[in-house]
Amino acid sequence: MLRIFIVLFFCLSLTFAASARIKVITTLFPEYDFVRSVGGDKVDVKLLLPPGIEPHAFEPTPQDILDINRADIFIYTNRYMEPWVETLLKGTTGKNLLVVDASRGIQFMRGSGGVDPHVWLDLGNAQIMVDNVRDALIAKDPGDGPLYSSNADNYKQRLRQMDRQFKAALADCKHKLYIFGGHFAFSYFNRRYGLEYLSPYRGFSPDAEPTAKALIELIGKMRANDIKYVYYEELISPKVAQTIARETGAKLLLLHGAHNLSRSELGSGITFLSIMERDLNNLKVGLECRQK
Ligand SMILES: [Zn+2]
Repeated sequence: MLRIFIVLFFCLSLTFAASARIKVITTLFPEYDFVRSVGGDKVDVKLLLPPGIEPHAFEPTPQDILDINRADIFIYTNRYMEPWVETLLKGTTGKNLLVVDASRGIQFMRGSGGVDPHVWLDLGNAQIMVDNVRDALIAKDPGDGPLYSSNADNYKQRLRQMDRQFKAALADCKHKLYIFGGHFAFSYFNRRYGLEYLSPYRGFSPDAEPTAKALIELIGKMRANDIKYVYYEELISPKVAQTIARETGAKLLLLHGAHNLSRSELGSGITFLSIMERDLNNLKVGLECRQK
């Protein structure tokens, strides 16, 4: 009899522990990974975007809206990345729901397409986003505050370390200019590391195809600058980058903007930091940096 009680008690406490986890939904992968890193096993985090989905054209389904309302915390990137959040907030949101703008406190950059939403590709901004994630978790679960603070500190330490690696590696390269056959996602990133890039696309959104004139100009600049590599972006067909590569004999390299993961990346243990590390390695090759 006692044994049954013990088993029962054990099951109940497991159920309680499972239900006590904070339910968090994030829109993009960087926030998802920050929540995982800061919340650990105290959180149950879900990425709203299905794997492989390009985020700029994404609109939540009615089921997504229900799921968001049943969560404890909903974290979106910013209103320029997810303009639909404004409509969501105008409706009734769950009583329990804490809605968090992950970019709170970050200075936005403007470009030809309006305000640039890709703040997370600046590793200084990424640290501010981690603080916003930490504050949200503490607001929901003050008892575990010291744990969230210490996890956030450790993670920010790793971001700073990666940032130093980028600065050191990119300081001594043949080129500052690179060619990107995708949509304009790396302005914050470029500003941080003193890089420039040319893209045949206009604006931030990947839906408009580049013109032949833009492609011809780009190819001319590549030849004039002796650039031997062309970068393509994640999740979108690299046919523009492939065309440039075919025309110039350049090699293709991935520059991953970390918006979302593909289906195959999802199960591979990939993290925001591992994406950035691979980007750094590909930039060292394409910019012909002195290897350290
Ligand atoms: Zn983008």
